[in-house]
Amino acid sequence: MPAEQKETPHFWAIIDALPVAVLYKDTAKPQIFANKQALLLMGLPSTESVLTLTDIRRIELLDPDSQEALSLVQNPLLLALSGSVLQQSVLLAPSQIKLQLDARLIQLSFTLSNSVLITLTREQHKPGEQLKKTSVQHTEEMEEALAFDKLISLISAELINVQPEKLDNHIEDALSALGEFCHADRSYVFLFHDDTSMMSNTHEWVRSGVSSHQDQLQNVPESALPYFWRVLQEEYIFAVSDVQQLPLQAVLEKQEFESEDIQSVLCAAMVSDDQLLGFVGCDMVARKRAWTASDIRRLKLVGNMIGNTIQNINYRLSLQQVQQELVQANAELQELASRDGLTGIANRRKFDTLLQQELHRSARQQQPLGLIMIDIDYFKRYNDYYGHLAGDDVLKQVAQQLQQVLKREGEVVARYGGEEFAIVVPACTAESLHQLLDALQDRVKQLGIAHQQAPNQQLTISLGASLIEPDKTTTAHQLIQLADKALYQAKAAGRNQAKTFPPVADGKAQS
Ligand code: GH3
Ligand code: MG
Ligand code: MG
Repeated sequence: MPAEQKETPHFWAIIDALPVAVLYKDTAKPQIFANKQALLLMGLPSTESVLTLTDIRRIELLDPDSQEALSLVQNPLLLALSGSVLQQSVLLAPSQIKLQLDARLIQLSFTLSNSVLITLTREQHKPGEQLKKTSVQHTEEMEEALAFDKLISLISAELINVQPEKLDNHIEDALSALGEFCHADRSYVFLFHDDTSMMSNTHEWVRSGVSSHQDQLQNVPESALPYFWRVLQEEYIFAVSDVQQLPLQAVLEKQEFESEDIQSVLCAAMVSDDQLLGFVGCDMVARKRAWTASDIRRLKLVGNMIGNTIQNINYRLSLQQVQQELVQANAELQELASRDGLTGIANRRKFDTLLQQELHRSARQQQPLGLIMIDIDYFKRYNDYYGHLAGDDVLKQVAQQLQQVLKREGEVVARYGGEEFAIVVPACTAESLHQLLDALQDRVKQLGIAHQQAPNQQLTISLGASLIEPDKTTTAHQLIQLADKALYQAKAAGRNQAKTFPPVADGKAQS
């Protein structure tokens, strides 16, 4: 068992449910965990699942050959649990370790590393030959069980953090291990669908020469196998050693199994977080098989492992989806937070960030940077005369027109406040600045918005611009002040015109 899985409640639940008696002790801890079967075997109350070495010492064990009580030095159970003293002899001859308890013979099998796992198997007391045979059989079974457990713990260790795209490979590995160790002809996974009472055969392993029916076993409704469905949901296990012996009400199941040449079938539910996800199963085709407790244990183990992994991946995927949605929502929020509610163009916040960025970039690249401030003329009078709603509409129209003039990358118009707009012009030249100022003024004029309260009966704008070559010390505030000063000059000079400060020659005379 990988260290991180060792002592989860899940681990104990599996150990407790095993059909063999198990004692488990972490060498670093004094407590010994005994599962239900072990308590039963040792005649201890079923409430005391956590034992101490003293508890174990009280159990009277005899040497099966001499019928004498085992001393501490001879008692392999005590020795193994108390440390490493016994390791060598245990590992050298695992099949030799037999103890007698209340006239019953017990066989021990050990796994030692940084923990001790002891399985105790009860045997009927039979003399001589008979006994040896049984013990050899047991040893083979134990070795097989150990090999299977090792393989499954390897696969499960990889499954813990498996990438969704690798999941199928790992499930197939687990199925082939299951098929081989249970001497089955097919092993498979079925998953239930989310919305309906249907299932599909998602993964399959078949022994060579055995036919596959995976294609036909897609979207199988509950009504096709009602008996199977009920047993699996009630008992979580569907074990049939001989399909011919199925009860009468399993007529549909019998037909289905016969059509797949199945003689014996064993299925275990895959449950994760109390949710039935599907099942894992094995078929016997060539011959019948009386399923053993080990087969059921293996199947349950593999079922739990795959079920938990699928659930884990589902959780991870839905978490990723939620994350993506959050990122998206965040971006939308950011976008929304940078727009002006009325006009839809960039707001003051966005303008501040943009200007800061452009200042840094221009200083770094030693490029000139232009800033234009625009203010609607006599707008208070417009509002007073036409109403605030009409004023809002004008703001929207003007914003749209200003935006349409801007063609070059990085040129952005923002609502600076009230009826004022600002435009950042990266890599600006004297010529392009004057062209832009003219175009902006014309565009608004062309809107032809009547303004009875303005001297020329028309809605106009005043523009102030500054063109600088910023260095690392230039601040946004300095640039804004310069453009503002130019705007003030335009207003003072009679409005409906553009001014630059410091003056930028445009080939025409500056007034
Ligand atoms: P000037 O030519 O000197 O710029 O005069 P003006 O009247 O345009 O300037 P002033 O600063 O005196 O008035 C600006 C007006 O803009 C006052 C305010 O009611 C109006 N205003 C500001 N924000 C909004 C808005 O969101 N909607 C509307 N309808 N009006 C606004
Ligand atoms: Mg103003
Ligand atoms: Mg104004």
